[in-house]
Amino acid sequence: MANVELDDLYREVVLDHYRNPRNRKPLANPQAAVEGFNPLCGDELTLQISLSNGQIEGVALQARGCSISQASGSMMSEAIKGKSLPEVRRVLAAFTAMMRGDPAVNAEELGDLEALEGVRGFPVRVKCATLAWHTLEQALAELAAKPGEATA
Ligand code: ZN
Repeated sequence: MANVELDDLYREVVLDHYRNPRNRKPLANPQAAVEGFNPLCGDELTLQISLSNGQIEGVALQARGCSISQASGSMMSEAIKGKSLPEVRRVLAAFTAMMRGDPAVNAEELGDLEALEGVRGFPVRVKCATLAWHTLEQALAELAAKPGEATA
């Protein structure tokens, strides 16, 4: 039983993102830069975003901490890259709904992110998985507060 539960937590795609984190290279000119911290686990991350024509052109994420926080951050960075801000907000909403256990979650928006659903079975790890997404929320707020950036 314990093995089955661990398999739920560490699905192959999650392990792959942990071992080979995407989008680690810092951006030269980010329009938003936000740091996130999960004191329950000690996870830390820095998220940078740059926009071009209302789309996420560049995303960079440096993460330190447990495997789940790093994998979730890497998966988030892949999920938002190249997307428009409204699309990013839809993915963010779908992920948040999934982690809440909302039955109305839009699986189409999630793609690979669905692999993180198993984390819900480990309540102390949920904050590890959602850290990158809370940081993304702050970055979106930072972008929206900037004059001249189209956020429609
Ligand atoms: Zn953690």
